[in-house]
Amino acid sequence: MALAVPTPAVAPVRIPLREVLPWAVFAGAILLSLLYLVGLDQGATSVFSGQLLHEFMHDGRHLLAMPCH
Ligand SMILES: [Zn+2]
Repeated sequence: MALAVPTPAVAPVRIPLREVLPWAVFAGAILLSLLYLVGLDQGATSVFSGQLLHEFMHDGRHLLAMPCH
């Protein structure tokens, strides 16, 4: 004899694309900035002069298998 398990009537919440898009663009900009700081900010394209940022991000750069030295 099978027991009838009551299932709650839960409807998924609809999130309109118009509400998500600005947050997705913002998150993409933040992530691209972080990717630039960790992986690309060195040499001729450096935004910040000096080696401080390079040395600070050095382990993360190797962790992500980015070319470093
Ligand atoms: Zn390195």
